[in-house]
Amino acid sequence: MTDQATPAPTDSEQRLGDIFEHCNNLRLGPMPSIDSLPEGYTGTFGHFPVYFPEEIVHAAGLIPVSVLGGGNKLELKHADAHMGSFICSICRSTTELGLNGSLDGLSGFVTHPICDAAKHLAGIWSRNFPDKLGQILYLPQNPNTPGSVRYTSAEYQRLRSDVEKKIGRSITDEAIWRSIRIYNRNRALLRELYALRCDEPWKVSTSELYLLMRARTRMPAEHHNTLLEEALGLLRARKRAAQDKPRVVFVGGFCEQPPLEMLEALDDTCYVVDDDLLIGLRWITSDVPETGDPVWALAESFIERSAASPVQHDERKTKAGYLMQMIESSRADAAVVTAAKFCEPGLDEQVTWSKHLDKVGVQHLVLEFEEKMTSFEQMSMQLETFAESLLFSIA
Ligand code: SF4
Repeated sequence: MTDQATPAPTDSEQRLGDIFEHCNNLRLGPMPSIDSLPEGYTGTFGHFPVYFPEEIVHAAGLIPVSVLGGGNKLELKHADAHMGSFICSICRSTTELGLNGSLDGLSGFVTHPICDAAKHLAGIWSRNFPDKLGQILYLPQNPNTPGSVRYTSAEYQRLRSDVEKKIGRSITDEAIWRSIRIYNRNRALLRELYALRCDEPWKVSTSELYLLMRARTRMPAEHHNTLLEEALGLLRARKRAAQDKPRVVFVGGFCEQPPLEMLEALDDTCYVVDDDLLIGLRWITSDVPETGDPVWALAESFIERSAASPVQHDERKTKAGYLMQMIESSRADAAVVTAAKFCEPGLDEQVTWSKHLDKVGVQHLVLEFEEKMTSFEQMSMQLETFAESLLFSIA
């Protein structure tokens, strides 16, 4: 029976609720099993954050799945025997997922040398799961050299050839072009979602946006396109009044995932109008050109039309520069500058960001998080105090 004081949800609000619940179930649930794969797919292929050229394995008929750690529900029983306790949570929980059998269905697992901890994951993987394709994709950390596109393209071709050997069939150029077109559509829809939140943040909260986006890590991109198209239509039509909340950007969630409860605490106090959550899914910032060689087009896009994160060192995107650009383009009042515990690249960046924001007089809150956090009271209080002081200063 509906509470008399609470209006019954409209059909569209009910449908949105169902979509968010579905996305959350995907976040909490296991990897897609072989017998649940949609038609046209023969397996799944895991990759670690931050960026992975999903089009190449998608074109092979494998669903690319991001391995994003174990969240705050996973108990570590085996990983501590393989990794020090001073390693970030996402690396340890990913190892646990491998050792406890949760990733058994993956055809392969690729990580990247984004930091020492991630670099060693591939070695641990290959040693413990020799029947799987476990390797490092060496994305260039310095994309400012003339040979960086050629180098990246060669790495992608190596990946393509290793996947071909693993699955026993070739990945054609035509199949990669088809995947590029699907992913171009996906990137455009994600840009629309981000633009909607920036313009009318009361229509879609950051925890909702995150759930919608994260669903792509568990389904083929074309299915995600259908989901986003429906959700965007419902969100645009949503009737919600704007609240008196400060506009902030949130940075530091590029690799280890902040718990959903942390994003909900942010939503309670602020309007997040830009962020670096799951930045790898949005790494390429405009369409990959649909001409020439498809692998070259992907490599060139990685270098020339790409976002920024603490794990890449691109002279064209200085640490302070890209944060200031986020703040200015999203018309934010302030920043929430976070880092995952024990994340060396993230903590380095946090210091640079914080110093710069002090220098230019942009208010900011520094927070540290861990995917396995379960208590958020203190963080909620910090956010509340920060938001109140911001509202006072910008009134
Ligand atoms: S969270 Fe930081 S330290 Fe851990 S794997 Fe990611 S980039 Fe490396």
